[in-house]
Amino acid sequence: MHLIQEAFIDCPWCGESFSTQIDTSPGDHEHIEDCTVCCSPILVSVECTPGEILSFDCSRP
Ligand SMILES: [Zn+2]
Repeated sequence: MHLIQEAFIDCPWCGESFSTQIDTSPGDHEHIEDCTVCCSPILVSVECTPGEILSFDCSRP
């Protein structure tokens, strides 16, 4: 089982998308991630079970 899953984030600031690694081991969680393009902070809300991302949402914190 791979606890680290790749996901594509659509930046809510600049609209660019980039891939990121999401740790699914803690289950549902939120974290702040900086956009790799414009460096703005993105609030990433992840709904997951260990090993699988069910859904995630990106918004301005
Ligand atoms: Zn951006």
